[in-house]
Amino acid sequence: MAQVSARIANLAISETLAMSQKSNELKAQGINVINLSVGEPDFFTPDHIKEAAKKAIDDNFSFYSPVPGYMSLRQAISRKLETENGLSFKPEQIICSGGAKQAVCNAVLSVVDPGDQVIIPAPCWVSYIEMVKLAEGESYVIHTNIEQDFKITPEELEAAINPKTKAIILCAPSNPTGSVYSREELKALADVLAKYPNIIIISDEIYEHINYVGKHESIAQFENVKERVVIVNGVSKAYAMTGWRLGWMAAPQWVVAACNKLQGQYTSGASSISQKAAEAAYNGDQRCVEEMRQAFMRRRDLIVKLASDIEGFKVNKPEGAFYLFPECSYYFGKSYDGRTINSSADLAMFLLEVGHVACVGGLAFEAPNYIRFSYATSDENIVEAMRRVKESLAKLK
Ligand code: PMP
Ligand code: GLU
Repeated sequence: MAQVSARIANLAISETLAMSQKSNELKAQGINVINLSVGEPDFFTPDHIKEAAKKAIDDNFSFYSPVPGYMSLRQAISRKLETENGLSFKPEQIICSGGAKQAVCNAVLSVVDPGDQVIIPAPCWVSYIEMVKLAEGESYVIHTNIEQDFKITPEELEAAINPKTKAIILCAPSNPTGSVYSREELKALADVLAKYPNIIIISDEIYEHINYVGKHESIAQFENVKERVVIVNGVSKAYAMTGWRLGWMAAPQWVVAACNKLQGQYTSGASSISQKAAEAAYNGDQRCVEEMRQAFMRRRDLIVKLASDIEGFKVNKPEGAFYLFPECSYYFGKSYDGRTINSSADLAMFLLEVGHVACVGGLAFEAPNYIRFSYATSDENIVEAMRRVKESLAKLK
């Protein structure tokens, strides 16, 4: 019988997108669901970026772009890395893709061979492990908890490294925890990795601009590892452009060449219009980024305050991104109306169906005792969502 490949059959569905889809289905039935599942800014794309896209259409940017992207965009990204991050990457070391998601996947597929190990500190974004599976690699997950602010130590990193280690995927500010490594913490990790010259460091910096503790720090700043760092970033989060699908990587030339070859056979260059919009985002006024950051920070304070007041939740104060990731195992084994909560996925489903709040269970992020709320939504929604969560959890006995 005709059937789907094992490669795809073994792939998990993206839980963040699946929960959001469920929330939309309930909304379509007329149920007033507050969606704190998918992580995307609720703001509209700033006007000057939209204008650039309209102009690109009128100017007939309707042909295939070069596979790695227009040189003008790669130059703009190169300048951004220099001025904002103090990093020197030539435009030739930059390749644009259909979102940061594709950039991470390109990187994994370009460096991981079957049987290679990829170290992934967890909690981690839902797609990393599945991307490693696509490359037929093995994930080596380092588990962390809320007490250590979800950050790995140099000792934990060193203990995870073995002859099969090919890469590590770091993500800071982190999805789903919001944790941010300080410069000193990152340097300590770099010092460990410096001893292992075969390991590629994929540094997912998509939440760079949603940072509440100061300047963004990239592991690429350290000379002892710089030659092996693949920075992944894009316009989705900083400029409220999730639907435009434009991300990029800055990497050693040989990695960019590999991704160029892969992308050339697979998707070609990213959308021409989105590239011109991204160029305007990087070259234009950056005040919009700061305004959104301020709004996210205010919302972070609000949700931390409200969630801290919920019985059984252990909450920390995330330093970046727009997620809250409370420990919720207090509710495991409790029941309401004939249903028993045995996992954070059960809890997420309970909150959706009983409380009409969509969120994501922690298992999808390799953290089964936690639950993720995205607070990239209005203050009113946050207040009402936390009221509903508190009220529905109180029913569990
Ligand atoms: N990395 C992380 C950690 C993310 O949370 C996301 C959000 N989707 C991405 C990558 C992908 O971003 P993009 O929308 O640009 O593909
Ligand atoms: N990164 C966002 C999230 O984690 C968007 C959904 C996705 O691509 O996973 O919710």
